Amino acid sequence: MTPSQPVSDLFSTVVSNGCCIGCGSCAAFDPAIQIKLDAYGRYAATRQSATTPIHPSAARVCPFADGVANEDTLAQEVFGDADAYDPHIGRHVATYAGWVAESDFRARGSSGGLASWVLTELLDRGLVDSVVHVTAEPSPEAGKPLFRFAISSTSEQVRARSKSRYYPVEMSGVMREMIQRPGRYAVVGIPCFIKALRLACRESAVLKERLAFTVGIVCGHLKSSAFAESFAWQCGIAPAELRMIDFRTKLPDRPASSYAITASGERDGQSISVTKPTSELFGSNWGHGLFKYKACEFCDDVVGETADISIGDAWLPEYVNDAGGTNVVVVRSQTLKTLIAEAASAGRLHLDEIPAAKVVQSQAGGFRHRRDGLAYRLFLEDQAGRWRPAKRVAPLSRHLTPKLQRIYSARYDLVQSSHESFACAKERQDLNFFLDTMRPLAARYDMFYQRPLPLRLLGKIKRKLLALVRGRR
Ligand SMILES: Cc1cc2nc3c(=O)[nH]c(=O)nc-3n(C[C@H](O)[C@H](O)[C@H](O)COP(=O)(O)OP(=O)(O)OC[C@H]3O[C@@H](n4cnc5c(N)ncnc54)[C@H](O)[C@@H]3O)c2cc1C
Ligand code: SF4
Ligand code: SF4
Repeated sequence: MTPSQPVSDLFSTVVSNGCCIGCGSCAAFDPAIQIKLDAYGRYAATRQSATTPIHPSAARVCPFADGVANEDTLAQEVFGDADAYDPHIGRHVATYAGWVAESDFRARGSSGGLASWVLTELLDRGLVDSVVHVTAEPSPEAGKPLFRFAISSTSEQVRARSKSRYYPVEMSGVMREMIQRPGRYAVVGIPCFIKALRLACRESAVLKERLAFTVGIVCGHLKSSAFAESFAWQCGIAPAELRMIDFRTKLPDRPASSYAITASGERDGQSISVTKPTSELFGSNWGHGLFKYKACEFCDDVVGETADISIGDAWLPEYVNDAGGTNVVVVRSQTLKTLIAEAASAGRLHLDEIPAAKVVQSQAGGFRHRRDGLAYRLFLEDQAGRWRPAKRVAPLSRHLTPKLQRIYSARYDLVQSSHESFACAKERQDLNFFLDTMRPLAARYDMFYQRPLPLRLLGKIKRKLLALVRGRR
């Protein structure tokens, strides 16, 4: 590493414009930087004073910083031999939909269980010594984070730490540990975290040597801790009393997309655990984007294009009705391709080869928001003369109708209001403050998607006539 010198850009650009995702990569290279939760429950980089000098590497490992390599360049460096390229999912050597057929990976996973399976397979075959992923705090203190990055070294540990955590996490500690402790590591992360790791490998030869595999988790957006708290509160567990949340409790006989949450904590001095379908909870519509980090509005990597393998949900009509859960998978590493193909032919995995276009279709909403929507948000930031991160998408407004422009602006406002409203509700200890302020805003936003009244009336008349005709048969 080069000696410390002032690099003010990271804080005056990324952090002060709210585009810090709190990944912790910068802090792993500079002890003067600390990752702390802000007033809205989002991790962000902080430093003691604006004049504290910053290590130059810290800015070079930030996924949103000016001048860093983009996902295309980083993927070219690592997967230069992967011939297939799709502008939405990047380089790849295979694309699948499916689930784990052996053991209870699928039942214990959020989706098809492929993420935990790949990690245990890497451990069991001796391809890595440790797995870096996210686990629940065993006994979190009141008001402290419920989840954190941790290092697992046995397949039992990996399997016990399955499930998606829609919750703020940061990896400065585990990155430091990887640099200090010899071994080969597999790291799981959402796309911007994997990008940060790839950038960090350019700064640290030690890390590059030890980072054996990366598992990218397809990402719609990251939520503040308020997402978990608001769900738990609606289940009767106040924010300070929440101790654990499972964001993906599978419900038998329902489509995989109709899952529940299970919140555990205290009520009136008693330990309770409540499971509720997310359809009954306000804030569960991912399209509304409540509690989203601002950085996610300026992200163009949906699947994790710099990861050896990307794993998400197969939100496709062919698979969504299966309550067990089905993954979409994008493979970029030849080693993983072989390992997966062998397991599929041995019946350990149930996999269908699907075209890249199907993977894109499975994340249609995410791509719309981070292609068409992103172009418009970049255009607005440029018009306002504000700093924003460099993106592979060009700023543009004329590709959107005036109505679509209003939709994207309204969604952006809805997200910002959700942070403020929930913080206020917590201060007042009144969940209804949040619900009463946000429900009308969400309803107004939903109106954009309603068909005009004459068309709705026509539809209603048509449905009634059809019912009459059927009744006579
Ligand atoms: C913030 C977030 C947003 C997501 N958005 C989408 C989306 O829009 N579309 C989509 O198809 N899928 C999305 N996913 C992925 C999806 O929820 C599943 O995680 C994925 O399909 C893998 O399922 P699985 O059953 O194979 O994983 P499992 O077998 O359950 O294993 C999940 C693994 O991921 C690790 N993990 C969990 N949360 C995190 C985290 N925050 N950071 C790093 N590691 C973590 C766990 O420790 C575990 O090792 C998102 C996930 C997250 C965390
Ligand atoms: S490296 Fe991560 S934590 Fe640091 S400023 Fe960038 S996004 Fe924030
Ligand atoms: S949407 Fe993009 S920036 Fe936001 S958490 Fe996901 S990968 Fe990171």
